Amino acid sequence: KAVSTTASRVPRYVRVNTLKTCVDDVIDFFKCQGYAYLGKATSVEELKTLSGKKFLLDLHLPELLVFPSQTDLHDNLLYTSGHIILQDKASCLPAFLLGPVAGSHVIDACAAPGNKTSHLAAILKNKGQIFAFDVDPKRVATMNTLLTRAGVTGCQLVQQDFLTVDPRDPKYSRVTHILLDPSCSGSGMVTRGPGEEVAPSAERLQALAGFQCRILNHALSFPALQRLVYSTCSLHREENEDVVQAVLQEWGLAFRLVTAFPSWPCRGLMAFSGAESCLRASPTETLTHGFFVAVLERSLPAAAKNP
Ligand code: SAM
Repeated sequence: KAVSTTASRVPRYVRVNTLKTCVDDVIDFFKCQGYAYLGKATSVEELKTLSGKKFLLDLHLPELLVFPSQTDLHDNLLYTSGHIILQDKASCLPAFLLGPVAGSHVIDACAAPGNKTSHLAAILKNKGQIFAFDVDPKRVATMNTLLTRAGVTGCQLVQQDFLTVDPRDPKYSRVTHILLDPSCSGSGMVTRGPGEEVAPSAERLQALAGFQCRILNHALSFPALQRLVYSTCSLHREENEDVVQAVLQEWGLAFRLVTAFPSWPCRGLMAFSGAESCLRASPTETLTHGFFVAVLERSLPAAAKNP
């Protein structure tokens, strides 16, 4: 199946960068550019009907605008000035669901090119501290440019393998939230160019899953951690539900899955009891790239649960 056929069904999502502007001002700007604003969508079906120079406010995410699939905004002044971020809806879920309050200390463990980091900074209103890591120097350089354009401050960007970051370093003693979006097979990505999807081999999946389990385990070992979001743009259960299940088992009762976005229609595969707490996204069901998100929280100590 040609990937571009699927791509034509996925709208162009535009995240308003609230570090620089607000939703109403962006809507007004687009109206001045000849786009017709149709209000807030009431169903995913409605997003399918978009055409021409029309746009909607998304029904799930408050700072997300939705345009027809073919809309190209790369040369738009709002984009080049960092007032809007061109980011798929599914990719906006991890930072939104992590939801740190302003002032929090947050780690983005696999951060480049930085769309989720800039989203985190917007949620934090640039108040608090983000430690953003990525192992790849070129991607870190790209991320630097992106974060500067987006007006992100209070973010320490470090080119380092997150697995070598010491959770006991006092620098991280106040880290309560971690976003973990590690390398994956990318099997959920919908490309807009021509091409065919290539299924990853069993060996590659196994290697990726091993890495994902290690890095999730490592993230959970930060002592002040309260809430973590694990996400991938993979469709494979081996990289998603199976990773979450294996790592949660290792941690016993210390961490638990919480229901991510209860009203989201597409849930985790029933790989284990409770896997429906995770969410999935797909071009057919949610009109997004294929994606997986799990939200983990540290369990309250028994005394706190039963005062
Ligand atoms: N979160 C990013 C965003 O929204 O823009 C996308 C992250 S991408 C899926 C995964 C990233 O993990 C890649 O940039 C890769 O270089 C990085 N990575 C892979 N292994 C890593 C490691 N051990 N430590 C830190 N970063 C790593």
